[in-house]
Amino acid sequence: MRPTGLSMDVRTTAKRKVLISGASISGPALAYWLSRSGCAVTVVEKARTLRDGGYPIDIRGTAIEVVRRMGILPRLRDAHIDSRRCTFLNADGSELASVRPHIVAGSVEGQDLEVRRGDLATALHGKVRDDVEFLFGDSIDTLDQSGPAVDVTFHSGRRRTFDLVIGADGMHSATRESLFGPEERFHRYLGYCFAIFTMPNTFGLSRELMLWNAPGKAAALYAVGDNDELHAFLNFHRPRPPFDALRNPDAQRDLVATVFADAGWEVPGMVNAMRDADDLFFDTAGQIRMAHWSSSRVALVGDAAYAPSFLTGQGSSLALVGAYMLANALATHRDHTAAFAAYERDTREFVAMNQALVDNGAARLFPTTEQALEQRNTMLRALVTMPAAPVRPAHSALALPEFAPTP
Ligand SMILES: Cc1cc2nc3c(=O)[nH]c(=O)nc-3n(C[C@H](O)[C@H](O)[C@H](O)COP(=O)(O)OP(=O)(O)OC[C@H]3O[C@@H](n4cnc5c(N)ncnc54)[C@H](O)[C@@H]3O)c2cc1C
Repeated sequence: MRPTGLSMDVRTTAKRKVLISGASISGPALAYWLSRSGCAVTVVEKARTLRDGGYPIDIRGTAIEVVRRMGILPRLRDAHIDSRRCTFLNADGSELASVRPHIVAGSVEGQDLEVRRGDLATALHGKVRDDVEFLFGDSIDTLDQSGPAVDVTFHSGRRRTFDLVIGADGMHSATRESLFGPEERFHRYLGYCFAIFTMPNTFGLSRELMLWNAPGKAAALYAVGDNDELHAFLNFHRPRPPFDALRNPDAQRDLVATVFADAGWEVPGMVNAMRDADDLFFDTAGQIRMAHWSSSRVALVGDAAYAPSFLTGQGSSLALVGAYMLANALATHRDHTAAFAAYERDTREFVAMNQALVDNGAARLFPTTEQALEQRNTMLRALVTMPAAPVRPAHSALALPEFAPTP
């Protein structure tokens, strides 16, 4: 983003004007709470419409309280996927163990939720679409903070001025890059690459997950509900990120096919389906770790600031909780510098605990050596007979403050 020479003082207007970049989870959640505290909110989203991608995400612990306070908990309970079982398979396709899914996820059965990402995004958007301005099919080109506000030039050519700008634009945030520099500075690679895509459910699977493992390789088929489509997932260990493949879909397909060339079970069919898939999503598993989440009048929320990686299953929960904490800090402090400092101070420990879930062995679902796989398998056999789930304290480690009235 290039600096521009635009300048207009918006501090004289009564309502704080806030621009949010990104309309997935953290963006609309933040828009809801900011609009409730009297801000005039605009959300810009580069996609042309609300993205309703269906892969399942979790809402757990403290994040459940956020969606309850937003009034969307009943709707999300209706959308809860409620998978029946998670079946682990050996390299030859034989069954190793079959467990209730919450046992491996560390979720609390009957309280925590798993919903399609699109269902959560649609519920959040539904709460704000009448009160918030949405600009779909556009993005921020330049941010100029040299004046008393932030002058923004959009890709479409629009020019507007805002009191604050918030980047809710995900792991590969352009807002972060424009303010803080390239992603490599903040990206902590966790040693895995993954491909996710949909394929026909020719296996008769229903509300269940099948997970196949060999050392350093995993393949999963997830039947979300009873429909005729499966979410397919191929994950593999790679000591260094495959930079060449990251921007080249053909190279991604070739890399995955090579890695899984000798794999058993249904993996050859999955690789073929991946070749034909028009919704292939390939990425590295990694976290975003930053010393600060704001710079002057611009701040970051959700994956843009502190992506924990899918290995923790906590990305959506951090996005929801982070949005609440940021909006609450802005509602408490009229001075944005004090607000951004309070947001970081009160949220950082919760983020750190959840990001550390991977350090503490959450990636054990994807062991990289024969020995680690055997250890994991021993643990899984024990889980089959466990009476209760080992709940993860990190999920509920933050007690939400009451939402502050407008200052
Ligand atoms: C394959 C996969 C599986 C996952 N599984 C889980 C799981 O099981 N549990 C879980 O909790 N989480 C999971 N996650 C993570 C979860 O999806 C994210 O952590 C969560 O969505 C973060 O929300 P966010 O709104 O901060 O960012 P995102 O959901 O990434 O949304 C960013 C938004 O910004 C938009 N955008 C990007 N760039 C721009 C731009 N320049 N201008 C305007 N708009 C822009 C994007 O189109 C998108 O709408 C998974 C993620 C992936 C990829």
